[in-house]
Amino acid sequence: MRAVTYHGTGDFRVDTHPDPGIEHPRDAILRVTSTAICGSDLHMYDGFIPAMKTGDIIGHEFMGTVEAVGAGATNLKVGDRVVIPFTIACGSCHWCRQKSFSLCDESNRDAETLAKLNGQASAGLFGYSHLYGGYAGGQAEFVRVPFADTTHLKVPDGMTDEQVLFLTDIFPTGWQAAVNAEVGPGSTVAIWGAGPVGQFVLKSCLLLGAEDIYVIDDVPERLALARAQGAKTIDPSEAKPYDALMDITDGMMPDAVIDAVGLESHGSGVLDTIYDRVKTATFQETGRPHVLREAIMCARKGGVVSIPGVYAAIVDKFPIGAAFAKALTFRMGQTDVMKHAPTLLEHIQEGRIDPTFLITHRGGLEDAPALYKTFRDKKDDCIKVVLTP
Ligand SMILES: [Zn+2]
Ligand SMILES: [Zn+2]
Repeated sequence: MRAVTYHGTGDFRVDTHPDPGIEHPRDAILRVTSTAICGSDLHMYDGFIPAMKTGDIIGHEFMGTVEAVGAGATNLKVGDRVVIPFTIACGSCHWCRQKSFSLCDESNRDAETLAKLNGQASAGLFGYSHLYGGYAGGQAEFVRVPFADTTHLKVPDGMTDEQVLFLTDIFPTGWQAAVNAEVGPGSTVAIWGAGPVGQFVLKSCLLLGAEDIYVIDDVPERLALARAQGAKTIDPSEAKPYDALMDITDGMMPDAVIDAVGLESHGSGVLDTIYDRVKTATFQETGRPHVLREAIMCARKGGVVSIPGVYAAIVDKFPIGAAFAKALTFRMGQTDVMKHAPTLLEHIQEGRIDPTFLITHRGGLEDAPALYKTFRDKKDDCIKVVLTP
């Protein structure tokens, strides 16, 4: 089979690999019909995720039809159309029983290594390094789905791939960020990052009844898309987000701040980003948390900081004093996809949201290397790429 393959920083190629087979009774083999490139894939592309090996297959946003199924995955049959959540969940451990699927104790084959780094291990993820199970990803013609009986969502008849594909990650991720931020009727929310996750945070805040939503980004087409959805936008290359938010909120500031950027914030030339660039280049820091620092400064006293953007290992100059003095609450983590996906599927079915609004680029698997570059460099107004193997 053909698959998007890691060859080092900035070097993803489409290679030929052996077809996957059933390795465990709870496995299923999927023929991938659609897969998307995610901002989190760029963290591997840009060399921020450790424990990647040449030959690893990328991709954690994918769906398809069941091609083969193990004897233990009794609720699946050949031909079923399914969306696969990027967090692999056993369905029966302490964490899965309380729907904290991203904390699953059973699905990460590299649990020991990750526990050494983080104190305890979290769930296995598709196509996301040898800290998260080393599972082959789904930017491929076929993929093996472990714990398939509890790691899938069936696609109702009549729905297209593009309508449901983003239930794999970015829609539940945006939704969880808004729920974590305690967004409800009347909320004032500021969202950093108007990329794919930021757009779904915004949609989710609207679905949850938020009143005022401010989106901070410096990419014009992303800001335009946010405004078209009803948000007010702030371009940090034109105005300091803190000053702009103080001004529009009459000094109250937003009661929820959401960092949908994560560890590769580029920060429009501000001083702390120059510091972070030096520190990350010399491996003394594993991310550039400019947005997180700014969000903490912009949060209302007693407010919530919600972080759907990915962070790994350690960052510097975390303003713990501001967070402490303002009594902020922090919520973060990988997404418990299967906790939210059924609710979100209903929103799509009822026509309250059409997730296809985000797709700007489509291609085949062989187009992946070129489309990764386009997406990374935000060229050609690229916001979201869907590949059909
Ligand atoms: Zn993703
Ligand atoms: Zn589990």
